[in-house]
Amino acid sequence: MRSLRAEERRSATAERITSGRLPFPRWVSVDPGASVTGRCDGCGDEIEAADYAFIVVLKGVVTFQFHDECFEVYNRTSPGRA
Ligand SMILES: [Zn+2]
Repeated sequence: MRSLRAEERRSATAERITSGRLPFPRWVSVDPGASVTGRCDGCGDEIEAADYAFIVVLKGVVTFQFHDECFEVYNRTSPGRA
């Protein structure tokens, strides 16, 4: 199975956020440039060792990992004004 392209990844991540399958970003810490492999929590595509990726920790217990482009989508999604 071929890797999704960046635009497809962005769309998949955005879809996952709007459908409620990803919590809105209220993280405790972010680890940019993390060396991770495995499934991206945004688009669901594999993160490869060569990809620039982010690890996001929510409330110190839940950890997500994202491609660079998927994190960008996640990061700019606002839960709205409190
Ligand atoms: Zn991704």
